[in-house]
This record gives sequence, C-alpha cells and structure tokens, in this order.
Amino acid sequence: MSSSVMKDDASNKFLCMGNIQGNCTQNKCTRLHSDTHLPYLWQIQLFGGWFTLPNSESVEQVFCSPEKKDYSFKFTYELDFYISILHCLNLDCTIVFEPETRAFMSEYSFVEVRRLSTMSFNKAGDVGDSFVTQWRWYWEYNAGKWMLFKPDSIQHTLEAKFLAKQTTYLYWRENYKWKYKIDFGSMTQQNVQTGATRPLRRRPVFVSFQDVQDNKTPPCLTPPQVIEVALPPPWVPWDLAHPFELVQMSPDDKDFIELSASFFKTVSRDQFTLTAVFRIQNHALLSGFNNQFLMMQARLIDKNMSRKS
Ligand SMILES: [Zn+2]
Repeated sequence: MSSSVMKDDASNKFLCMGNIQGNCTQNKCTRLHSDTHLPYLWQIQLFGGWFTLPNSESVEQVFCSPEKKDYSFKFTYELDFYISILHCLNLDCTIVFEPETRAFMSEYSFVEVRRLSTMSFNKAGDVGDSFVTQWRWYWEYNAGKWMLFKPDSIQHTLEAKFLAKQTTYLYWRENYKWKYKIDFGSMTQQNVQTGATRPLRRRPVFVSFQDVQDNKTPPCLTPPQVIEVALPPPWVPWDLAHPFELVQMSPDDKDFIELSASFFKTVSRDQFTLTAVFRIQNHALLSGFNNQFLMMQARLIDKNMSRKS
C-alpha cells in the first residue's frame, strides 16, 4: 500500500487520474497516488490507521450494483506490530453501503470504512475518455429492482444538486401529471400526490483492474444542455431536465426573511402562517430579465449623457 493514501486528510482528496494511467507529470501532485492504479480504493479504519482492502475491486463491483445493499467477505491482513511478531487478522467483515457506509467485523462490531475515488464526472466537467467517477442515480421500481433515472439530463441534474448539497428537489413527470420530491438527506423520492416513497441510490459505473490496464474508460452520459445564464449566488444548480424548478427556501434564507417581512406588513401574524416559500428558477425568464435590465441601464446612461451635453 502506498503511504500517501494513509494521510488523515485523504478523505477530502481525490485519486490522481494521471497516476492511474501511469503518467502523472505533476512535480508536487496534490491528488492521491496509489500503487493499485485503480480509480477507487476501499479502506477500513483499524488501530487508528486506514487499511486498503486487498479486495477493493470486488467490493467496488458489488457497490456498483444498485440492488446490492451490503457485501460480506473474509478480511485477512498481516499486521507487523513488532519486528518479530506478525499478527495475522482473519475476520468476517460485512460492508453495509446505506444509509452510511460502515463495516461490521467480528470482534470489533462496526468500524469506519471509506471509499477514495477520482472526482465526480460532474465536477470534472465530464471529460470523456478518462477515469473520472461516473456516478449514476437509481430509484427502486419494485422490491429489489432498481431503475436508472432517465433521460441523462436528470442524471446530470441530480448529481449537480447532490454535490451542491441541495436538500430537496421538486420536479414533474408525464406533462405535469405527477409531482415528485427528492430528499437528498434520506435518499428517497416521494410522489407528492400519492405520498408513495421510494428509496434512491447513487452508485458508480464499475471499472475493473483490467479496464485500467486496457485503458478502457467508463461510458459518459449524453452531454447536458449548456445554460449560458449565470446563476445568481443563492440559487441552486440549474435543472437541466425541465424548463423551470420550484426551489423551497429555508426559513433562514435572506430572501425568505425579506419576503416574510413584506408579507406580514399587510396581514396579521395571528391569522396567517407562512409554511413554505419557493423560488422559481427559470433560466429563460432570468435571461429575458437580464437583457431588459441591461437595455434599461444603457438607456439611462444615454439619457444622462445627452442631459450633460
Ligand atoms: Zn498525480
């Protein structure tokens, strides 16, 4: 195991894609390097240190199957405690992937487990022919049967929102017939009309050791629609699958507080309660507004100029 992946801050870093392909040219590379050259590493925490699982590839293969919720195996490791004493660990281990990824081991109850990986395709700008992690989103269609979210634009949208730590996401299907609420905290999707709730899973596309050797990179999604309109700061990432999104604002959001204050100027707090406020994020409308704003500003400058002359 490479010593560089034992660093405590490793969980905040990504594996180096150059190192995976054996051609990292960085002098002082800030990404993680490992001898396995895999785009992921599964590690467990024992005796205050992180140990890379020798069967990381098998763990990953199971993790990449959305229907699998855990993986059991025999953990064997030779620990060199003292120069002459070699302690050989041979323990039953089960990694449970959800809701939190944890490992249960005979003798130790649960131990921390982490998956180090390359950057998400969404953050890396979905560079093709590379070993960025191709995360995919699934929903449980039937007990034990998992479906990929379709089309690809919703995969891009879910991944961007998840990485931006958006808490909930509302969208409609079948021509606004059904409204759904995705909760990223509980990883569930609820049909708002019927109340039916289904679990969600976010799993990567599997890359084997042989794939890395053959330089066979995982498949990319269809590139998303490019929205040129800049996001105003408090806004959440654009919904790339629908023309607009209703974003529920948190009660401590500045806009929520201002709106609430204006609302209660004319109505009594004793008679009304503000239960939810939504921001409409519509890029076409925002683009129109921005254009009008620029035109008005230009007209105002012209007017002031002619006044001065
Ligand atoms: Zn590197």
